[in-house]
Order: sequence, then C-alpha cells, then structure tokens
Amino acid sequence: MSGGVPGLTRTLVIGAFLSLSAVGLLSQSSGPQPTPLPPPIAAPRDVTYPGTIRLAVDARDIERRILSVRETLPVRPGEPLVLLFPQWLPGSHSPTGRVDKVAGLTIRANGTALVWRRDVVDVFAFHVDVPPAASSVDIEFQYTSPVETSEGRVVMTAEMLNLQWNQVLMYPAGYFTRQIMVEPSVRLPEGWQFAAALETASTTSGVTTFKPLPLETLVDSPMFAGRYFQRFELDSNPAAPVRLNVVADRAELIDVKPDQLDAHRELVRQAYKLYGSHHYDHYDFLLALTDRMGGIGLEHHRSSEDGTVPTYFTAWERNADQHDLLAHEYTHSWNGKFRRPADLWTPNYNVPMRGSLLWVYEGQTEYWGYVLAARSGLLTRQQTLDALGSVAATYEHRIGHQWRALQDTTNDPIAALRRPLAWRSWERSEDYYYEGLLIWLDVDTLIREKSGDRKSLDDFAAAFFGVGGTSYVPMTYTFEDVVRALNAVQPYDWASFLRARLDSRGPAPLDGVSRGGYQLTYRDTPTDYFRNSELRRRVSDMMFSLGFVVSDDGRLTEVLWDGLAFKNSLTLGTQVISVNGAAYSGDRLREAVRDAQKTGMPIELSVKNGDRYRTVSFNYRDGLRYPRLERDPGKPARLDQILESR
Ligand SMILES: [Zn+2]
Repeated sequence: MSGGVPGLTRTLVIGAFLSLSAVGLLSQSSGPQPTPLPPPIAAPRDVTYPGTIRLAVDARDIERRILSVRETLPVRPGEPLVLLFPQWLPGSHSPTGRVDKVAGLTIRANGTALVWRRDVVDVFAFHVDVPPAASSVDIEFQYTSPVETSEGRVVMTAEMLNLQWNQVLMYPAGYFTRQIMVEPSVRLPEGWQFAAALETASTTSGVTTFKPLPLETLVDSPMFAGRYFQRFELDSNPAAPVRLNVVADRAELIDVKPDQLDAHRELVRQAYKLYGSHHYDHYDFLLALTDRMGGIGLEHHRSSEDGTVPTYFTAWERNADQHDLLAHEYTHSWNGKFRRPADLWTPNYNVPMRGSLLWVYEGQTEYWGYVLAARSGLLTRQQTLDALGSVAATYEHRIGHQWRALQDTTNDPIAALRRPLAWRSWERSEDYYYEGLLIWLDVDTLIREKSGDRKSLDDFAAAFFGVGGTSYVPMTYTFEDVVRALNAVQPYDWASFLRARLDSRGPAPLDGVSRGGYQLTYRDTPTDYFRNSELRRRVSDMMFSLGFVVSDDGRLTEVLWDGLAFKNSLTLGTQVISVNGAAYSGDRLREAVRDAQKTGMPIELSVKNGDRYRTVSFNYRDGLRYPRLERDPGKPARLDQILESR
C-alpha cells in the first residue's frame, strides 16, 4: 500500500468502499486501456460551398431495385475531402440513413481512381485524398434498395418508385447543407410520370434535369414516380398552387369521386383559415395507393410522402382510419418544417438531432391532423369523435407512464429506431404523438374555458405557425417560445401546466375530453370507425376486455401490460388455436366473451407458443368492451365546436 499518499491513508481508515474508489483514481490497473479516437470530421460552417454538385440518378432498374448514382463534385485542389452519406434524417428525427445500402463506390479525379477510406468511428464519412491537379471528383455508387421487406422499406416496385435524394448522394463535410448547391437529374423507366416539389429545367432523351437548388431543399423534395399516375389541382392559385399527385399499384385505383376531391380541396382552405398563411410557393402531396411499396408518411416543406392503402378512394368509407394522414403531413409544412424545434434543426445530415419538443412537433400535428380532417370533411364529425375515443381509451389502459414520463419518450426515435416491441403499452414508444394530442386537446379546451370561449388553440396556431408570411426559411423555437405564445392567447401558468404533463409519472391527461363536453365510455359494440379499422388491419381488438389484439389467423399481435392476457402469461406471437373447444375465429371469440357474460362460465383458449400447447382459462364476465365518446349534456360541447368547419 502506498502509505505516502495522505488521502489514501485517510480513506483506508474511513472504510473499504471509499478506499477502493480512491485506489481507482490514483493508480492504473493492469487491464487494457482505450486507444485514442481518430480526429472528428470537420463541423459544418455557414459558408458557401464553391461550385455546384451535378447529381445524376438512374432509377430504371425496377426489377433489381437498384438506383445508380453519378455525382460530380467540385473540389479545391489538394484540400482534404471528407464525403458524408446522410445519416440523421429530418422527419424521422433519427440516425436512420442506410449507408449499408451503398455499394460499388468508386471515386475518380481526371479519370484516375482515388483511394477512399471510411472513417472507423463515423462510418457515414469517407476520407478521400484529392490530387493537387484535380478541380473536381467523380463519384459513382449504387444504392441497393431493399428487394425484400426484411431488408427495410421497399422503395421500388414494378409500378412505382419513391426516390429520396438522401439515399442517392454524398456531400462534402464542413458546410451547412443550405450552402451547397446541387443540380440534380433523374432517368425514370420509360413512360413513367413523376411528381416532386422541384422545378424542371429540361427533359431530353428520357433524362429530366432540375434547376439547381440548395442540398437542403433537394433532400426535402423527394419524388414519387409511377406507371399509373394522375395529378389533381387542389388549389390553382398561381402564387402557391397545391396539387394532389397520385401513383397506384393499378390504374383503376385512382378513381377519385368529386366529393372526395372536394374534401381534399377543403383541407387546403381550412388549413389557410387556421394558420392564416402558408410557407411555400407550391405544394405537392405525393400520394401512393399501394400494398407493394413500403408505407410512409413523411413531411416536407413543400410536399409530403403519403403512402396509404390501395383502396383509399375506392373503398373510402372503410378506410376512415387513413383519412387524417394528409391533414397530418400537410400540417407539418407549418408545424415541424417551417417552425422547427431549435434542438431538432441541424445544419447538415450528420449532426445529431434532439427531440425534446416532439410533443409539439408531432403531438400538435396529430391534433390538427384530426381537427383539419374533420373541418374539411375528410372525416365526419362522428368518425373523428370515434378516433379520439380510441386514443383516449388506449391511454386510459396503458400504464407505461408509471415508470417513464412522456418527455422521455421523445428519445425513442434515437433509442428504439421503431424496432418491433413486445410490450408496447409498458415500454412506451413515441407516445408524444397520441398522448401529445391529448395534451393539446387539454390545452385547447382550457383556453376556451378560461377565455369564456372567445379564444382557442386556433389563435395559437395562427400566431405561432402563421408568422413570417410565405417565407420557408425554417424558424426555430424553444419551450419558452411555446409558453410565451400560449400566454399571449390566454394568460395562464402554461409552463407548469405543460411540465406537469410532460414530466409526471401520472396517467395520460383525459381532461380535454370532459372539458370538451364528452365522456369516455365502453359499450359492447364497436363504433364503425373501430370496426372498420379492425377489418382493415385483419385483427380482433380485444384490448379493452381480454387485453390483447389477435390477428384473423389467431396470432397475438399485441398484449396489454398488466391486462388479463398478460396475467395468463400470454405474449406476442402466441397462437390461439381454439376457443371453448372450437377452432379459432374472431367471431367465435366475441361470441365466447358474450356467452361468458351470460353464463358466468370461463372462456377457455387453447394456445400454442413455439411447440408448446396449453389451455388458458379467462374468468372474465364483463362482456365485450369498445370505447366511444358520449355527449355529456351537463357541459358545453366544445369538442363539437373544435371540429366545426370554419
Ligand atoms: Zn408527423
């Protein structure tokens, strides 16, 4: 022992625990030590990148689903070059770039292949030694887009493709993306049409070249292209036309009825009434009706990628649970793209994002998505109430808040990357969407109550999102900015109000429902909205009775934490073989629940998990339970007013 160290002698006297800490501080152990990390990649600076990148994408290989990229990048002779492949993607709020899909990378200068080395820490960065005589480098690679869903989202099919520019480019480190100019071009399969919020410069021999634009705007302007394509004008105002561009698996799916088109047009009018402005010079909805291309709902400043069911138009009534999609993504042009949380905005796609305000970005967008869908007629008032009833009931039953505050779920895009979850209701996942919605319903009804129904969240939306005229330069905000804007509408201690809901371990706020003049109840028949959603998803949703969701083939797709199924040790993936001795079907299960209510007999399920069979007995006599909102005549019908067309 090193008695010559006075501190050590003293801690030895005080106790073993402290003395061990002191030894750790003072002497190095004999085990391995970390090697130094490579120097960090140059941070982005707000200065102009010299020259314009030329980017050419060949998207014709729809059979093998390969996108071929050629890129010419002006460089400063002899200066070290680091190329970045986009990692942190706006809208996903997470590091979901697929650098693993980059193949065949070659980099040349004046025809000679250059050596590139991937950074061993930041694997999205490629170091290139540029020779002194080179004024540009030529980059070639393939983006081997997923052939099967197990690899990731399918973006190319025989009928359509979704070109996301962040997948088909590399860009120099050291610059803000708004300071890097790009001239993009694309070659599509013959006869295909496309839509993107880009301005075409020329089309020759099947190659469409777009006007040069900042990299930031390009990545924010993806393309849908397809064999079956139609465009509909939603607003023909030449200063800011709004278009609905539709691609589909089959031509006959693009069968848009006049009243459906009217509702989509009304969405634009209602959004303008709500926000009082728009932050684009044109807007393109990119709508894919498909079950072949991977699903998507991704916001952009002047467009949105909206993937939905093939029968969106042709079985309109049955797909009500898809009718808020466009209203949600459109709202993001204001909430999320133009007004952006300060910690979420990043100067390029390789700087980490932070999602502390996603309960505004996504939560309030979820709220306005439903409200605008109702105001425009995309959803009926009843469908909207039924949707909100389902949300309220879901959060009334989930108890994940007992260990994890809502605020913490804003880390999920990074922590969980939307991987499948076994215990959704306990682990929690991005709850800032729907619990966020409930908070904003709470806020809206409270503003209305406190102001004697003279003010509402509409006033906040106009003030907060409607600023800045038609500018689309992002305007960032902080928590304090949100609180200030709320206070300007209706003075109140909004900071404490919001923090209590964001940081507490208490249940989700349902006050907005009751203050809106409704109560959450459970009946033995589902609402049409609920039943159609079950049919579309091919499930029986028994969440509010037996505590599980089961697919039509008997597989459990969700089990409620601490619910009845959970208490019977049922898990995701368990197969229900039979109900009371007869082969499983959704109807038979519902019948068994009804019978148990009458007879008091248990419900017996034979279940299979792996190669193990067992019988599970549910002593449950409360019958079928489905949520709905019912009018509380004792309170003003604020929710009805909120959903009313303006
Ligand atoms: Zn969203």
